Amino acid sequence: MPLSLSTPIGQLKGIGAKREEALKKGGFATCGDLVFSYPSSYRSGTVYPLSSERVGFFSYFHLTVDTTPVILNLKGRGKTLRYLASDENGTSVQVLHFHQPYLKNQIFTGQSLYFGGVLQEKNGVFYLFSPTRETEKPKEDALIPVYSSAGGLSSKQRAGLLDQVLLSVLPEIPETIPNAILKKFGLIPRARAVYLMHRPVSEQSLAEAKRRFAFEELFRFSVQSSLFSLESAKKRVLALPDSDLSNFYAALPFQLTGAQKRAIDEICADLCGTGEIPPMDRLLQGDVGSGKTMVAAAAAFLVAKNGKSTLFMAPTEILAKQHAHSLSKLFAHFDIPVFLLTGSTTKKEREEIFRHTTGEHPYILVGTHALIEEGTSCGGVLLAITDEQHRFGVRHRNRLGEKGGAIHSLVMSATPIPRSLAMFLHAKSRISVIDELPPGRQSIDTLYVGEDKLPRIYAFLKEQLNSGKQAYMVCPLIEDEENLSPLVSAADQMREVQKELPEVPVALLHGKMKPAEKNRVMEQFVSGETKLLVSTTVIEVGVDVPNATVMCIRCAERFGLSQLHQLRGRVGRGKDKSYCVLISSHSGKSARQRLKKLCDCHDGFELAQFDLKTRGPGEFFGTRQSGFGSDPISEAFSMEMIRDAGEAARMFLERASEEELLPYAGAVRLN
Ligand code: ADP
Ligand code: MG
Repeated sequence: MPLSLSTPIGQLKGIGAKREEALKKGGFATCGDLVFSYPSSYRSGTVYPLSSERVGFFSYFHLTVDTTPVILNLKGRGKTLRYLASDENGTSVQVLHFHQPYLKNQIFTGQSLYFGGVLQEKNGVFYLFSPTRETEKPKEDALIPVYSSAGGLSSKQRAGLLDQVLLSVLPEIPETIPNAILKKFGLIPRARAVYLMHRPVSEQSLAEAKRRFAFEELFRFSVQSSLFSLESAKKRVLALPDSDLSNFYAALPFQLTGAQKRAIDEICADLCGTGEIPPMDRLLQGDVGSGKTMVAAAAAFLVAKNGKSTLFMAPTEILAKQHAHSLSKLFAHFDIPVFLLTGSTTKKEREEIFRHTTGEHPYILVGTHALIEEGTSCGGVLLAITDEQHRFGVRHRNRLGEKGGAIHSLVMSATPIPRSLAMFLHAKSRISVIDELPPGRQSIDTLYVGEDKLPRIYAFLKEQLNSGKQAYMVCPLIEDEENLSPLVSAADQMREVQKELPEVPVALLHGKMKPAEKNRVMEQFVSGETKLLVSTTVIEVGVDVPNATVMCIRCAERFGLSQLHQLRGRVGRGKDKSYCVLISSHSGKSARQRLKKLCDCHDGFELAQFDLKTRGPGEFFGTRQSGFGSDPISEAFSMEMIRDAGEAARMFLERASEEELLPYAGAVRLN
């Protein structure tokens, strides 16, 4: 009987009834379960000398066994084999094999082997726990798959089972993407990808396999979301008959970038036309400073031009205020009023606003959460814009939608987390991408320095501020009265600045201040009255003060790369050369690596990906159920791929038969 994907795992050589039971419990019942569960990582075959440098990493060592193995009865570890071995430099290591006393007959002094394992060090002694042993030198450029342990199988045992199974079942592996799409997007077939995941012949072939799986998943998301929108888009709104944006373009102080125009065209196509149309549900994705606000403004303009109104929701009061300010300037040209509604709007002001938001005349209402609170009364709303989506839950967005029945939704985000993008695909959204920055932007010089350089930083700040520029200093904490935290608080920083730069007008801004106070501080900074703003990350999103040229971040290791990138995006918004100074004396390797990365990289997508890799997906992805130890989506992901997958889904849906659609029915809905 040839093996197939559905062959019970118990039929494989070397699997007895007991093992089969254990494997079943671990989720491995059939050969298919083995084949579709991929390595959690790959390691190279490089052989290292024993040294502290390798502690904590998997490595191969060429060792000679120096002492006869003895069997110990270790508490909780059962029978353990222990012996000493040493490398060519004479450095020794204690080797322990837990639960494997039988190895005693296989290991003897003078034996020279390649040991593979994670090197440990304690009190100056090196240890290897249950290392693998090979007689042949591992291949230097080999990509050796590492499997997580399942049902008591070691990585090597699992690889051995795959040896029995893999080739026989490959022809059976079903293809999930039509051939034409594979060809068009240069993807390898599924069976080939499965094979390469287990037996990568090169880094490149592994990357191709991952790319295929990432694409497959995005493709599936796209097909499902399109189907979902077909089913659920029963709601209808009247299309806007007037799609003429020429007055809007004429009123702008600058030329829009090609990417901005493209996004506007996409939105325009969603909103305008004749008769009844399904409501728009679009994500506008663009890096910090790419000019998303103007694209949103174009949408609001179209809506107003056709007699309807727009709600514009921002995550913070500062940002709402800033949007209200810049939109009022722009919309004054067209006599379209812009109102601001936040938590600090007084009752009287609210009533006054609501007198103008009945829907009789078009308006734009900018605000914070206050927009979706009880008692907000606004008629004639056709479009809801949500800025910096990642700061809001999806529910908020839905509530914005509920307000006026069927309305268009435009959501903006700079945080390109694949997961959130995927969520949008799930939730039937379309995506517009702004992948181009406005012209003339200078790249921001990013420096990474230790705390010992603070005197020089203050000297530099002084120089910049004296020449009329402004600066931010961001800290991870508000205050720390009992001095419990090793971190620098904004309050400490404030005192330090007052001491180091006594002549500089400085202000403190943090999230616990009353809104009115925050507004005052922000206004004084915008007007240039305050030169230096010491703050927490409340200024992270969106704040736009083009005269600010320096962003200093204390304890920079405490922030995620995407967040640091956002903070950095607060400077470099004007014509002048800008700087971002990451201050951190943290010695952790991964922290140092991440901060260095930020110095060289100015691409938000790349940074988000790097963050995912170095901080681990858990933080962003929650627990993801898939056969992948690592996450191919986050590794192989690119904006281009999102677009391609969307296009592929459209190609597929145009031609798919009922039967072909079947696997995609019942798409999961996130709420
Ligand atoms: P973000 O995408 O981060 O929300 P903003 O919409 O705040 O970016 O835009 C950042 C800055 O760039 C603003 O000062 C805005 O006026 C300016 N800006 C936007 N589009 C252009 C453009 N096409 N040319 C020049 N400046 C632009
Ligand atoms: Mg913005």
